[in-house]
Amino acid sequence: MARIVMKFGGTSVADVDRIKNVARRVQAEVARGNQVAVVVSAMAGETNKLVEYCRSVAPIHDAREYDTVVASGEQVTAGLTAMALQELGITARSWLGWQIAIQTDDVHGKARIHEIKTTELDRRLNAGEVAVVAGFQGVAPNGRITTLGRGGSDTSAVALAAALGADRCDIYTDVDGVYTCDPRIVRGARKLNKITYEEMLEMASQGAKVLQTRSVEMAMKHRVRVQVLSSFEDTPGTLVVDEDEIVEQEVVSGIAYSRDEAKITLVQVPDRPGIAASIFGPLADAAVNVDMIVQNVSENGKSTDLTFTVGKTDLDRAVQVLNNIRDELGFARLIPDQNVVKISVIGVGMRSHAGVAQRMFKALAENGINIQVISTSEIKISVLVEEKYLELACRALHSAYGLDAS
Ligand code: ASP
Ligand code: MG
Repeated sequence: MARIVMKFGGTSVADVDRIKNVARRVQAEVARGNQVAVVVSAMAGETNKLVEYCRSVAPIHDAREYDTVVASGEQVTAGLTAMALQELGITARSWLGWQIAIQTDDVHGKARIHEIKTTELDRRLNAGEVAVVAGFQGVAPNGRITTLGRGGSDTSAVALAAALGADRCDIYTDVDGVYTCDPRIVRGARKLNKITYEEMLEMASQGAKVLQTRSVEMAMKHRVRVQVLSSFEDTPGTLVVDEDEIVEQEVVSGIAYSRDEAKITLVQVPDRPGIAASIFGPLADAAVNVDMIVQNVSENGKSTDLTFTVGKTDLDRAVQVLNNIRDELGFARLIPDQNVVKISVIGVGMRSHAGVAQRMFKALAENGINIQVISTSEIKISVLVEEKYLELACRALHSAYGLDAS
């Protein structure tokens, strides 16, 4: 007998028929003799609608009330799923965040889970009852409802799996696993049977939108075995596991892209000690996240160009912050550019192989694609290129690293 957390995303619970389908999936797991806790998202599109309601009542609103509103989508699906299970003769009940309780901090809109009380859930799971938990929500120390940030029900599921000591956390979604690259972009993309936590973390944070990044961090920290699979098909998905569970490691496991970044170039920045701090300090104070950075050596020892990327949604704020301190910084020009895409190749095999970056640069060069910015980590190389090259670059790299399906 195993203990399984099954999480169903918005498309899997998008309407009543799909909720009945979810109930049948849970029934099958129960029939295998397993203990099951279910975590549900809101119906697809529901959370967006709720967010929109908040914006239209008050563009700048009380974050506590925002959470009260947007958490409601999951209350509906949790109740309906419990009902559908009962219709199949399964003992089940719904649980809201505060009822369990899933205790979080009080950062409304993007709260972090501190602790999950599991005594009562434990007892009921042991007695064969199915728990249907509303994802995405928790409760602040003062008792107010919190939400965990968009896509947060993945994190609810992994956190619950960790707290319950579950054998596996199955994340059911509308894709049947994690692919070597987005199959809509690269036709030869293959589903991965296994991927390491670290790679999945890079994939998620580099733009592959399969799992919320925070949920992968949590899975890695607590060693929760996560499986990503489709709620519409009966094929095994992708397992996210420890590196030593992967026998034959490819050098590069996958290619991710992100259209969410924008580039800023500061032309003729004075080349003096402390200049980087005086640029990036104020940006950090304005909560602008800077990702890639390049600074050239100055030819004349007086000034240099500095290029970096920020989230597209932060671009206007970043430009404003820099223009406000323009005199102090003394740059000649600021050039914002949204027409870029970041492409990353990811693989733990990079640690032990030479020439991985070279293969990337060569493949891009052969296709006439100019690299604007480069950044690397131990298991990832990212490049910024003009947006129109997105597909060409992904395909070229997919082939260059031998990832195409044979
Ligand atoms: N319903 C929430 C959202 O759309 C949480 C989730 O689906 O994971 O962001
Ligand atoms: Mg999701």
